[in-house]
Amino acid sequence: MPNPLEKYRKLQREIRKPFDAFTSVRCETCRTPCCRKPVAVDATDMVLAESFGWQPPEGKNMHEDLFKLLDANTLAGNVPVTDDIGQPCDFLGERGCSFPDDLRPLRCTTFICGPMRETLPPEEIARLEKMALRLTAARRELADVLYSDPRPRPPSRRRRR
Ligand code: SF4
Ligand code: SF4
Repeated sequence: MPNPLEKYRKLQREIRKPFDAFTSVRCETCRTPCCRKPVAVDATDMVLAESFGWQPPEGKNMHEDLFKLLDANTLAGNVPVTDDIGQPCDFLGERGCSFPDDLRPLRCTTFICGPMRETLPPEEIARLEKMALRLTAARRELADVLYSDPRPRPPSRRRRR
């Protein structure tokens, strides 16, 4: 069985190529820029990046964010509530997203923006959607491993009548 983390990172690298080809040309002049709050970063995204030495941009307290993100809403997959809606994402650095290229937040990585949908041919959009589904499935597999409980369970007792 392939290592689920390696698989996830490999798929991240694969999906980044077509996205980068678009964003490197379009983002600078975009009139509706994304990477604005509220952002869809979750605790797993941050823990994974941190475990590979990622540091948030200077002045940013990642652990505060992590606690904010680890609330019930986030664990349920919802975007955290924020009071500075519309401001640039805190993880946006001078050269774009500060996360490692192959450990970008899942929902950022799989986001196909409006300008992309308007510009790229439908078959290319369909291909990107398929890649996004594969990446999402790989992340689910990885989360199953990360959050599984390795402790042996006690044998179940037979009910006595
Ligand atoms: S919406 Fe699309 S084109 Fe605009 S900044 Fe975001 S990725 Fe770039
Ligand atoms: S985490 Fe990165 S990709 Fe996601 S919104 Fe922030 S800067 Fe953009």
